[in-house]
Order: sequence, then structure tokens, then C-alpha cells
Amino acid sequence: MSEDFSTLAIRSGIERSQFGEHSEALYLTSSFVFGSAAEAAARFSGEQPGNVYGRFTNPTVTAFQQRLAALEGAQACVAFSSGMAAIMATVMAFMKAGEHIVASRSLFGATQQLFGPILGKFGVSVTYVPATDLSAYDAAILPNTRMVFIETPSNPLMDVIDIAALAKVCKARGVLLVVDNCFCSPALQQPLQLGADVVVHSATKYLDGQGRVLGGAVCARQELADEVFKYLRTAGPSLSPFNAWVILKGLETLSLRMHAQSANALALAQWLEQQPWVERVFYPGLASHPQHELAKQQQRAFGAVVSFEVKGGRENAWKVIDHTRTISITANLGDTKTTITHPSTTTHGRLTPEVREAAGIREGLLRVAVGLEAVEDVKADLSRWLA
Ligand SMILES: *Cc1c(COP(=O)(O)O)cnc(C)c1O
Repeated sequence: MSEDFSTLAIRSGIERSQFGEHSEALYLTSSFVFGSAAEAAARFSGEQPGNVYGRFTNPTVTAFQQRLAALEGAQACVAFSSGMAAIMATVMAFMKAGEHIVASRSLFGATQQLFGPILGKFGVSVTYVPATDLSAYDAAILPNTRMVFIETPSNPLMDVIDIAALAKVCKARGVLLVVDNCFCSPALQQPLQLGADVVVHSATKYLDGQGRVLGGAVCARQELADEVFKYLRTAGPSLSPFNAWVILKGLETLSLRMHAQSANALALAQWLEQQPWVERVFYPGLASHPQHELAKQQQRAFGAVVSFEVKGGRENAWKVIDHTRTISITANLGDTKTTITHPSTTTHGRLTPEVREAAGIREGLLRVAVGLEAVEDVKADLSRWLA
């Protein structure tokens, strides 16, 4: 098959049934029958490939895994019930008590809760470093460090981390580089091609793209994916076939959506930079962004998330939100519907004011995840509070 992303997004992972259905079939079944006792034994042992039980095999889930693997350029993909389940599985597959994770600061909130309070109970520790400081990662790697975990661009300030350069550091130090590729999706960035070892996804976001279902995935070379699969098979945070089917169909329009939403986001960011009531805009597509050149090399487009600081702090930031009529007030992102969030009182509200300030998440900061509405309507909605 062609290696072209658009073709793979639509054509990979298809195995038609005896009925010859054109669109991918949805198999709602928890278990599978075998032709004989010998076949059952061969399927269970893995000697014969094929479906066994829905906790770890289903044809619709397999189709989704194959398609996402193709899009990430991965040898294998293992699907999960949510992005957090995928991250948990990655940790369970590769970490043990007494080992250590180095992570970029300002990770997704639930990932920080997992790495801190939860893994702490099992003797795994974590050190956070400033996202874009490569020497800080190198300095933080200890003899017991097993993985470096990053998100790029970061949430909500859109720092861009040099994946290829960090992969070199990780390789030299013998640790795994894990990249949460949620914000870009493989349509804009393929971390494994840049030297990362593992990609984790919240399929809930751009892969579905229309805010319908939860899902997650881990993409990696076969030997690493096999370890992740062992955890799935036993622990069972499995992606439901229905959700797999929804996300599988979502992948068909992923590239179109990501490019269209990125174009809207760039137009919005450029406009925001011109507004007298805006203090500062954080978007990798702007020349003013500190990693603009890196983002141009590393990403096919700049992504759909734009953060900006409103003059007048929280009071005016909340006014902007409360005067919108079209944009959805929700912390979610990765939807065709534009959403707006006030990070310092929602997604980052559990941090102390000092930690928030140090992370650069000020009271006037707003995060907009730009969708597919006319960008002029989004601009008008964000301006409504001025009238
Ligand atoms: C949403 C999100 C997750 C968690 O995914 P769920 O599907 O909600 O479990 C992980 N990482 C990032 C960057 C996210 O935005």
C-alpha cells in the first residue's frame, strides 16, 4: 500500500468479512468460538493468531490498532479504554519499584496525579524538569531512571520540545523516551520517526475528533508493544469495540481536520496578537514564539490550541468566557467545536499559586482549542465582552 498518510488513514487495517462490507465492520462480541479443542488450545497459546476473548482481541479493535500504527509509523499499537489507561499501561510495562521517571513540567493533570501520589505508593519516583531545557533532562537522569516522559507542545503554554535531540540524550543514557502525542496527533508529528521509543495517545481528543468516546493507545516497536500487551491482557483496561469503531472512522478525517483546525488557530493567534486587550499569545505558529523555528521543522502544522493572556487578570479573563455564545466552556479539547478554558481555576486549579506562577500559568491566561467553525465567528465571540 502507498505510504501516503491520507491513503493509510482510509485504507489501512481493513480485513473484510465474508460479507464483503465496504465500510469497516463493528464486531460486538465478548468472545469467539473455535472449530475444535486443538484450535482453542492453539489460539490460547498464541501458536495460531486470531481472536480469543474481548479483553485482549477483537477485530474492530485490531483494525483501529493497525491503522494508528500505520499513521505513527510504528511496528505495533495496543489500544486502551482511555488515554490515562494507556499511560498507566506504559508505566506498568516498563517501571518497577525503586525506579525513576524524568518528566517535562506541566504534564496533563491526571498524568501528574498518576506519577506522583499513585506511583509513589509503589516506590516509583518522578523528577520534573523545565520542558525545553535539554541539559536539565540529562542532569536529572539517575542510575535508576527508566524513562523520560514528555508532552509537546505542552499544555497550556505550548512549549515545543526538540524530540530528536532529546531522543539522542535518552539513547546515550539508556532510557526510554515516551511522548504523549495528543496535541499534534500523527497527522502533524510522528515522534517515533524522530527517535522516540513509545508514543501514547488519548484517542478521546483529536483521533476521535468529535468528542464522542473515550479511548487510548500505545504505539511502539514490537518488543516494547508486546510488554504493554501483556499488561492489557491481564489487567483489562480494554478499548470497547464500539469506541474503536468510532475512532477508526475518525482517523479517516484526521489529517483534514488537523490541518483545517491548525489554519483556524493560526488565524486566531495572529488576530489575538493585534488586540489591545491581549497581553501575550502562546502559539508555536507565531514568529514571537521562542520555539517557532523548531516547530516548523518538527511539525507539519502548529496545532489547534492557542493560549493567551488577557490584560486585567482573572476578572477580565472570566468576562471573556462568560460573554461567549458559540464557544463551549469546557476543559476538553480535540473537538470540531471550539472550547475555552481558564487554566488557573480549572485544569491547573489544584496547584498552589506559587507553583502555578512558576509554571507561567497566570490569572489572565485563557486556552482556546480551536475547532472547525468559521474563525470569524470565534473572533467575534471572544470580542463580545468588549461591547
Ligand atoms: C486528555 C489527555 C490525556 C488523558 O486522556 P483520557 O482519554 O482523558 O484518559 C492524556 N494526555 C493529554 C495530553 C490529554 O490531553
